Amino acid sequence: MPPVHTRLAPTPSGYLHKGNAYNFLLAYRLVRQYGGTLRLRIDDLDVLRLQPEHVQEIFDGLNWLGIQWQRGPVNAEEHYACHSRQLRIPYYHQLIEQLIVTGEIFACTCSRREIHEQQAHGRYPGTCRHRNLPLHYPNAALRILVPENTIIRFTDKIKGEISIDLAKSIGDFVIRRKDRLPAYHIASLTDDVDHGINTIVRGEDLLESTAAQLFLAKKLNLQTFETAHFYHHHLLTDDEGKKLSKSAGSASLKWLRENGILPEEIMAR
Ligand SMILES: [Zn+2]
Repeated sequence: MPPVHTRLAPTPSGYLHKGNAYNFLLAYRLVRQYGGTLRLRIDDLDVLRLQPEHVQEIFDGLNWLGIQWQRGPVNAEEHYACHSRQLRIPYYHQLIEQLIVTGEIFACTCSRREIHEQQAHGRYPGTCRHRNLPLHYPNAALRILVPENTIIRFTDKIKGEISIDLAKSIGDFVIRRKDRLPAYHIASLTDDVDHGINTIVRGEDLLESTAAQLFLAKKLNLQTFETAHFYHHHLLTDDEGKKLSKSAGSASLKWLRENGILPEEIMAR
């Protein structure tokens, strides 16, 4: 294995939980095993959901876990001053512009409700594909056209050979939101490429996101992302088998920390 350049990418939308810790510790372990660098990248693009205490909680949680990172902010102040995604919005729009040049981008005014009325599982039904709305149309998102039979294949280090039919799973997906903010896929891909990330550790709930980002990377010839190593791990669940939420409950790192649980116990569970 060549040196691992990976990142922790928490969203400050709530309290970190054991599942986040599992993800962080897995990435940290890879860097320690193979050498390389670990970057902290806080996904604060969506300011409406952002609360300063949750940014601070990320640093408190990582320090408690004993994780050391070499790139990115060392504390909340440095995050806001130098590393916030808000500062990188122009770069994300550059990527969107490059995609527009491909001619496969269209404006879409559908609401979430309208999409769900047509497709119960939320796949975009292609409603605005051929409406030819101008790209600057008011209150419109931008989507990229995903042709039928777009099969994305990659090898995952944990799950093995992956094959995802992107048209059937998510369909034409958003690259710029109605509020003009870049979509998650755009910000994540831009940062991974700009930061020289060659290893991506994320939960298995993001397999389709990875497929969408590989689709974009291929269009834009972003080879570092196309050749990255992917580790999609299983998600930790609560005692009832449900996905952990970012509440301050007993799965939160804050609760564990304050109740004398040791970080080593997280990986053991
Ligand atoms: Zn639409």
